[in-house]
Amino acid sequence: MSSATAKKILIVEDERDILQLVKLYLEKEGFRTATAATGTEGLKCAREEKPDLIVLDLMLPEIDGLEVCKRLRSAPETAMLPIIMLTAKAEESDTVIGLELGADDYVTKPFSPKALVARIKALFRRLDRSQQENQTIYRYGPLTMDLSRHEVTIQGKDVPLTAKEFGLLEHLLRNPGRVLTREILLNTVWGYDYFGTTRTVDVHIRRLKQKIPLLDEAILSVKSLGYKLKDATGGA
Ligand code: CA
Repeated sequence: MSSATAKKILIVEDERDILQLVKLYLEKEGFRTATAATGTEGLKCAREEKPDLIVLDLMLPEIDGLEVCKRLRSAPETAMLPIIMLTAKAEESDTVIGLELGADDYVTKPFSPKALVARIKALFRRLDRSQQENQTIYRYGPLTMDLSRHEVTIQGKDVPLTAKEFGLLEHLLRNPGRVLTREILLNTVWGYDYFGTTRTVDVHIRRLKQKIPLLDEAILSVKSLGYKLKDATGGA
């Protein structure tokens, strides 16, 4: 891995020893790193350093990891940034909230740097794979979306969708397991210059669920944020 193409990882952790250990280990593995010791600093670094992934501690001074996660997901420039959370065993309920808020994975303290690196690499592989599949076909249970034919089928049967419904579903299928805010969906599917409200997104999500019953359970509403398509690869 050359330094120009090496992925950059932002580590946000207030415990200096852990921060240094993770930083050293990641650099040894060929990653570039950036570090922050508070939530506020972490948010600033995420915007300025443009990392490829963030390792985010849950318990942080000023703004905690959950709030950082929420803010990252709400801002268009960091909405898609992969997040791995560091949590203590006792914080398991927070871990669940973290995943709801859009963290991609979590590692429980105490952890070995080796295990963390393995998780990071696995996450990058998963993201690469979904990017490669981007232009072609998405599958979600019995549902198939073929972008080149511009069609959605369920077990081979055609499902007629409007252009916006199609766009919305495409964006959800492209980002399974991730929280997508109404603003992001509105900007992506309707465009930045669209003169409308985020209610439009709710209406179209409801129509999608009516047309495709399996989405009724699969598309989760995330309180005060937006929507998330359940990660199909996790369970089934
Ligand atoms: Ca901490």
